[in-house]
Amino acid sequence: MMNKPLGLYIHLPFCLKKCGYCDFCSFPAVSEAQMARYTEALCAELAHNAPKAEGRAVDTVFFGGGTPTLLPLPLFEKLISTLYRLYPVTADAEITVEANPASADKGKLQRLRALGVNRLSIGVQSLSDGELSLLERVHTAEEAKAFYADAVAAGFSNINLDLMYAIPSQTVESFAKTLDTALALSPSHLSVYSLILEEGTPFYQKKESLPLPDEDEEEGMRQLLLQKMAAAGYGRYEISNFAKEGYACRHNLHYWRNEEYLGFGVAAYSYFDGIRYGNGKDMAAYIALPLSARAEEERLTDMDRAYEYVMTRLRLCEGISLSAYRSLFGIDFAKRHRALIERLAKGGLLKMEGDRLFLTDEGMNLSNSILVSFMP
Ligand code: SF4
Repeated sequence: MMNKPLGLYIHLPFCLKKCGYCDFCSFPAVSEAQMARYTEALCAELAHNAPKAEGRAVDTVFFGGGTPTLLPLPLFEKLISTLYRLYPVTADAEITVEANPASADKGKLQRLRALGVNRLSIGVQSLSDGELSLLERVHTAEEAKAFYADAVAAGFSNINLDLMYAIPSQTVESFAKTLDTALALSPSHLSVYSLILEEGTPFYQKKESLPLPDEDEEEGMRQLLLQKMAAAGYGRYEISNFAKEGYACRHNLHYWRNEEYLGFGVAAYSYFDGIRYGNGKDMAAYIALPLSARAEEERLTDMDRAYEYVMTRLRLCEGISLSAYRSLFGIDFAKRHRALIERLAKGGLLKMEGDRLFLTDEGMNLSNSILVSFMP
């Protein structure tokens, strides 16, 4: 019998500069000495938790950020060798590193590939220089394209591009141009999110003065996105994620399928043994005491787990398996929510096909309010 899969997430919170819209846990201009201390702390946290992975199959590892490619190579080597030494990483594991254009040269990308990294996720966001500058990104469109070419030349064949829409000054036409340029590169995967103005960010503070597209334009962009992805042969498998056949992100599928994962580093979350827990965001505190970094913890009740199952699975085009839900939670989901399901199905927002219940494209656009309506 196959060992139960387990995903690992490692947070590398370094960036050249903070983008105005960013609410991720990331720190600008961190010194190499500090990165070295942070890597030591990560290795200590990895070692401490290794027993949890005994008898499991670590089939995905995701280095997220921040801009992980800013980590100097010797530190990356140390981190990856620690990981392989302590964890049962499978031979075909998906190993992803997030990167930003111009954050590593071809030599560094080649070395990462040689270390076993087999997937790159590049934060491109837009391929219009004007929009990139309004987003306060540190790279140009040309640099993004050149970085992609370097990644391909370094041996990466599984590459995700992150793009955004509904960003300041963007029009449906400029978004179309970004999409066409991105699709011409033929990445294996695209994650495309609308800009959300998160509280506490500089963008949130100046939201009234940002030249944001209106609702109709945003809807036009969303429709255009779906058309172009389908025409180019990318399957939508999650609300904001599209992939060529066989290239869905296996690590993120762990999250969306409610499977277990362990997170390491500041602000990293884990879901293990029925408990969801997260580390604090203070880098100095983490470096000083990486084994006491846990800042929050919640043991999920059966009802929490049942609701989370719905919340995350309905994000996926594959939707919910009614029989799996019944055997996991002892509840007939279709019976319990009959009236709501009928109403949503009548409105063209949700479909039931045999054992499968899933949101339509239109339903996915309204997913936030639909998912909340299933709350117990
Ligand atoms: S590069 Fe990404 S993580 Fe870094 S500040 Fe910008 S949005 Fe945040």
